[in-house]
Amino acid sequence: MKEDAENLDFLSNPKVIENYIYLEEMGVFRLIDKFNSEIKNCKNLLTAAVDIFNKITVDEILDAAVWSISYRFLPSFITFLWKPSQNRDDVTILSYKNYKKVAINVPIQTITPFIPFFRKFPKPAAFDVFSSPENNVDISVLNILAKIDPELIIPILSPFGFFGVVLVGKKITEKGYASDELFFLEQLMSFVSQAVQNNIHYEHSVRDVKTGLYNHGYFMSRLDEELARTRRESAVSSVIVMDVDRFKDFNDSYGHLAGDCVLENLAKMIKQTVRTGDIPSRFGGEEFTILLPNTSQQTAWLVAERLRMAVAAMQVAWDIPLPQVTISLGLVSFDSRSNVTSDRIISRADEALYKSKQNGRNRTSVWGAGLLFKVQCSLDPGSASA
Ligand code: GH3
Ligand code: MG
Ligand code: MG
Repeated sequence: MKEDAENLDFLSNPKVIENYIYLEEMGVFRLIDKFNSEIKNCKNLLTAAVDIFNKITVDEILDAAVWSISYRFLPSFITFLWKPSQNRDDVTILSYKNYKKVAINVPIQTITPFIPFFRKFPKPAAFDVFSSPENNVDISVLNILAKIDPELIIPILSPFGFFGVVLVGKKITEKGYASDELFFLEQLMSFVSQAVQNNIHYEHSVRDVKTGLYNHGYFMSRLDEELARTRRESAVSSVIVMDVDRFKDFNDSYGHLAGDCVLENLAKMIKQTVRTGDIPSRFGGEEFTILLPNTSQQTAWLVAERLRMAVAAMQVAWDIPLPQVTISLGLVSFDSRSNVTSDRIISRADEALYKSKQNGRNRTSVWGAGLLFKVQCSLDPGSASA
């Protein structure tokens, strides 16, 4: 405070007062105002960047961007079109009005028609500029966009290229976007694209490409954390291990591609069966695991049996009719008293799984200390008992 007061001393300096008019005429104050507005812009950008980089999921990143844009400009709508995968062409479309997600129908299947324009002008563009005939943008895309009526089109660019656009509606106040505002939007989108790319890389590092389930490494590190947590909090958690029955024979009879299709369908079924917070993974080959935090043996048993029966009834669409596949499962639970490592948990679940295979497959077995498999074993496939 004292420093500020000292800094303002010059205001009462007679020489400054004497030269005030001169400084004003020279435009010094206008320049100061301009600098102040630029500083404010940069501060807003920094706040937005911190907010965006602190988010974990793509939805959260986009929500944060929408919040920043809406707060500053009050646009009538914001729509994101982006390519979730570099290898595929499909687009994800998210639209927001008044900070809230809304469903709008944008019949655009690919963002490829935007590429030539943004290769030439990698910056936010007014729709009028984007759509002018000399830019040769695909007419079908222009017709679709004209119905949405965006004021601005902003590319989402990353070091790996172009992977989306943001359509921003007119400001509610009807004023146009000024050049410093376009600069803000351009910078903001560069943060969004970097944050989304980071997220994509992270997802690739923890997920199995074929099924989209978590991978072996991620599963094991979450199991380690869960063992530590159950010790701390006296909780009980469970692990289910499952393996496709006689899958080598299936591949030999119907081919590896049909086998892959079965694994993808099985992964979908696992995703549908688990709750939020469970960790389903492709452990390797045709073996899958689920970590069920805060889940007793009885509840995990029901989950395992429900899954087993759903798989046995699963229809997989293929060029030719495919036979049903079945899975065998092993289940183990642990709590604060189980003084075991994560490897030991997996080997116990594997022992239970092995027992299911030995007893005829298409069943669930539970690992029990000392009295292995005495606890529960679904001897009669087709019935789920608790
Ligand atoms: P069991 O009931 O004892 O598990 O018999 P199995 O034939 O399933 O067991 P085995 O371990 O002998 O064979 C596993 C088979 O799983 C062999 C392999 O070709 C197949 N497999 C593993 N990963 C994949 C995959 O990604 N795609 C396909 N199509 N097959 C796979
Ligand atoms: Mg198998
Ligand atoms: Mg196997």
